[in-house]
Amino acid sequence: MPVFAGPIQDLVDELGRLPGIGPRSAQRIAFHLLEADRDSALRLAQAIAEVKDRIRLCEQCFNVAETDLCTICADERRDRSVICVVEDPRDIVAVERTREFHGTYHVLGGALSPIDGVGPEQLRVRPLLVRLGTQTVTEVILCTNPNREGEATAMYLARLLSPLGLKVTRIASGLPVGGDLEYADELTLGRAIEGRREVSG
Ligand SMILES: [Zn+2]
Repeated sequence: MPVFAGPIQDLVDELGRLPGIGPRSAQRIAFHLLEADRDSALRLAQAIAEVKDRIRLCEQCFNVAETDLCTICADERRDRSVICVVEDPRDIVAVERTREFHGTYHVLGGALSPIDGVGPEQLRVRPLLVRLGTQTVTEVILCTNPNREGEATAMYLARLLSPLGLKVTRIASGLPVGGDLEYADELTLGRAIEGRREVSG
């Protein structure tokens, strides 16, 4: 038997499915929302609905976007000859925070992980190749996470891209090994981008 009346139990259950929210936190948030005034609680519901209805992926780089192109791809001032390859849209935020990069991005949608069944076909590798075939790109920066999967992905892409005759670079070490770009401080990540080195396949 659920402890709480239907609707509040449903909310506790839904909140408990969110990443990083345990049963106790789910309960605390549910009761907070129950006690909050109606408008502020509904703003949260509305924000979730808006994200699901209005956000899609950029046609070019697969960043989150509100229109066909994300704000970065639509920005005329960005240097289209340099593409920074990242695993996840959140990594774009991390790189943007450094203010070291003025090119465009390509979001892979993850990293190679044979154990989890993630191969090149599960990532947006093919759209990257299409992009490189249709746009004038001089450098691809491999900005995947400094962990095992991220390194394997960078090595795979280096091998794949080096015959194309463009510069392929990997962000410098100095980032915490095994870490996540998302959590790197902007100074460290900025230095890693600045100190990137050319890699060959
Ligand atoms: Zn884009």
